[in-house]
Amino acid sequence: MKFCNKYSGSRGNLTLIDDGKTRLLIDCGGGIRSLKSALKKEGLSITDIDGVLITHEHNDHISALEPFLSANKKAKIYVHQRGFKALSLRVSNAEDRIVCFDTPFNADSYFVEFYECSHDASFCCGYKVSEESGVSIATVTDTGKADQSLINFFNGCHTVLIESNHDEVMLKQGNYPYPLKRRILGETGHLSNEQAAEVLALLPDINVKNAFLGHLSLENNTEEIAFSTAINILSKVGAKEGKDINLYIAKQFCGGESIIVKK
Ligand SMILES: [Zn+2]
Ligand SMILES: [Zn+2]
Repeated sequence: MKFCNKYSGSRGNLTLIDDGKTRLLIDCGGGIRSLKSALKKEGLSITDIDGVLITHEHNDHISALEPFLSANKKAKIYVHQRGFKALSLRVSNAEDRIVCFDTPFNADSYFVEFYECSHDASFCCGYKVSEESGVSIATVTDTGKADQSLINFFNGCHTVLIESNHDEVMLKQGNYPYPLKRRILGETGHLSNEQAAEVLALLPDINVKNAFLGHLSLENNTEEIAFSTAINILSKVGAKEGKDINLYIAKQFCGGESIIVKK
């Protein structure tokens, strides 16, 4: 299957998964124009999409959903049942398109599992998507905690995307108001570079081949700092980028490298 994170961050989130039979999006953030141009670069249009997995109701994950639904009359919208109400309040005319889940489920040719994030939304989850051959990818962003349960979730995945939102020093010294700093640093906020890197260091042992660092803050992070923090912690456990694991930065605006995920 093809895995392509088109953009990731507080201005919008969009990932495409395509196994040649079913095309799924994870989240539908950003503007409708960005969405169209991101899909166009993959040779697709909005009507080619079969379904959207929604992580949570924050604007950066759903802002293009309403115009998407107007342009695509067939795609299903998958949301955890605890996130249904918040989503349907924010997106009009979506209710009859929504499929609620509270256990792992099939979305056309994929098997989908979810990971409950620790985030200040009605419900927020990461996704693990497996194609019929058993190959899996996972994306987890918008979570303030990373513990063993997250490593367990990534186990068996070929490619993962994990949040690496902020550099703690930049955030603490930056211009954000104190309550916002506290929110981001808290257990229901976002993962820092250090927290992401500590998870990353364990991924070569569970055979993850590719890791994307995602949901980088525009104000409190840089690609270079996120990357070097990850490399430093990887080297402490004797793992080499490019050999034991390939590391990528998920771009904040339409960038998105395609990765072909296969056994
Ligand atoms: Zn959020
Ligand atoms: Zn977000």
